[in-house]
Amino acid sequence: MHSSWKWAGTFIIASVALLGMFKICSRINGDPSESEKMFRLCLKRTIKTGVHETGHILSMFHCIENECCMNGSNHRLESDSHPLWLCPVCLRKLCYAVQTDPVQRFEKLGQFCKKHSLKNEEAFFRKSAEAIIKVKEGGHKHSIPSQKPDAEENLN
Ligand SMILES: [Zn+2]
Ligand SMILES: [Zn+2]
Repeated sequence: MHSSWKWAGTFIIASVALLGMFKICSRINGDPSESEKMFRLCLKRTIKTGVHETGHILSMFHCIENECCMNGSNHRLESDSHPLWLCPVCLRKLCYAVQTDPVQRFEKLGQFCKKHSLKNEEAFFRKSAEAIIKVKEGGHKHSIPSQKPDAEENLN
């Protein structure tokens, strides 16, 4: 591909992502001061937009394979129905793009969700971290010696 076309593509993706980021900065996600419930809904909408648009900035397209934060949506009800998290395919792309460890990412996301009472999301991120640790321990024993998912579970 000619480099100017490549840059044009990058520019278009970045522009679309910036439009999405506008949602975060405006009140389009609702009024978080209305109630605790509304605060959590606004927070989830803001995070979803942030995750989705960051995916676009990293050259990820809309996900059509699974229920995923990278699914495209045409209206609020549709985007509210999408999960906060990425599907395994998109997660793999993200981890490759930013060279991050999925277990550490899930643990940090779990802590964030716990702090903000996003219970379903916290449980999802905690279980995801545990599942990856279990697979890693099965394939490479002693590769993650400091991780004790059972002990963490007892804290809840
Ligand atoms: Zn999109
Ligand atoms: Zn996906």
